[in-house]
Parts: sequence; structure tokens; C-alpha cells
Amino acid sequence: MLTVYNSKDMCCGCTACETVCPKNAITMQKIGRGGDKYPVIDQNICVDCGLCRKTCRWVNPKSSTSEIKRFFALKVKDVDVLNKSQSGGAFTVFSDAILKNNGVVYGAYLDKENDFTVYHKRADNFEERNLLRGSKYVQSDIRQTFRQVAEDLNSGKKVLFSGTPCQSDGLLSYIEAKHISAENLYTMDLICHGVPSPDVFN
Ligand code: SF4
Repeated sequence: MLTVYNSKDMCCGCTACETVCPKNAITMQKIGRGGDKYPVIDQNICVDCGLCRKTCRWVNPKSSTSEIKRFFALKVKDVDVLNKSQSGGAFTVFSDAILKNNGVVYGAYLDKENDFTVYHKRADNFEERNLLRGSKYVQSDIRQTFRQVAEDLNSGKKVLFSGTPCQSDGLLSYIEAKHISAENLYTMDLICHGVPSPDVFN
């Protein structure tokens, strides 16, 4: 049976494979204990094109670079912003810049009104962006975010995507697979310790 990943510990659930599949043959499903979702291929629909495995950064890791990057540290001076942030307010600073340039922002949203799920949401104004601030401590449900990002990039918008490192990497891989320019795409992630079980979080 064809699978995207070689073993469950070689899948981060980024959804790049699900989104890139031209036949919509992949769905993310809870497998085993913990509530983590993994891609499952409907063998009746799959045409064995191999695009899902080609896009997977675990199956096809990008070679690392020895290029030395420049690093900056920041902490905003605005106490109100600082009090609404968990990491010095970096997300607010960068998303402010994107929104002021008529761009859009994607980030994890904690739905406290309903079932306490965490999912990725699009914001094109400051009010909606404010809902994305603060750490969530669990990996979000990406839903249709990668496709929405692709649409925004194709329409010439600047996009800031904030998520876990594997989600950012999955998005970049998806954008590359779709031959979309990433020139207007900015990704923001965190130093990740690994995500906890969604079932425990629930
Ligand atoms: Fe979809 Fe192609 Fe992967 Fe089959 S091999 S699941 S058709 S991307």
C-alpha cells in the first residue's frame, strides 16, 4: 500500500502532501494514540504520480547550508503590545509591517468560544491579526491555509505566515512544488521543542 511517509516518526503533519495532491487523494486522519494526524492515501483515487512524496521534506530533505546568517534580537517598547505577547512582541511588529503594506497574515488561532481547537486563520486587518497573538503550545490544524497562501501570493500580496518550523517548511515546499514565487512570502517560526499530543491538550 502506498504511503507518503516511511514511518510515523518521519511525519510532522504539515499537510504539504495533502494540499499538493492533484487528485485530492490524501486526507489527514488520527492514527494511533495521542490524536496526531497523518496523511492517508485513498488507494482508489491515487494515480501514483509521486508528487506527495516529492514535496515531503522528510522524504526529500533540503540540503543544509553553511552560509552564516545575521541574527537580531528584539523586544517591543510598547507595554500594551508586550503584555499581549509571549515572545517580546515580534509577531506584532512584523505583522504590523505586512498589514501596513496591504498584505495578509496567517497564524494560529485558539477558538475559546467553541471547542478550544487551535487552527490557522487568515487576517487582513489589525483586529483579526490581534486574535492570532500569543503562544498556543499545541500544533494548529492547518486546514486550507497553504492553498489560501498560494492564492494570495498569486494575486501579488505580501504574506506573513507564522507557525511551527515544520509547518513553515511544509508551506515553502508546497509553494515550490506549485512553482509559485516565494518572493513575497515571509515565514516566522519558533525554536520548537516538539508539539504535545492534541488529545492531551483537549
Ligand atoms: Fe496524490 Fe500523487 Fe500522492 Fe497519489 S502519489 S496521493 S495522486 S500526490
